[in-house]
Amino acid sequence: MTYLKHCLWIGDGECCTDSPVSGRSYCESHLWRVYAKGSNHARRKKDIRVANSVHTWESLFNEAVEELEGEGFEI
Ligand SMILES: [Zn+2]
Repeated sequence: MTYLKHCLWIGDGECCTDSPVSGRSYCESHLWRVYAKGSNHARRKKDIRVANSVHTWESLFNEAVEELEGEGFEI
């Protein structure tokens, strides 16, 4: 792992000169901000993926039902 002398925080153009938390790329005060941002983003992406797959399963199910009904099955 590369040893970083300074926090990688760039923010709105201001650079941070604090020492990073060991094993991380950011200092203590910026680490949680980066982490909070990242986890919100990841959660939102996951929600969208779940919504998409639920929608897919619903339409597959409806198609199957219509097909069976078309063939004369009582459901
Ligand atoms: Zn920092």
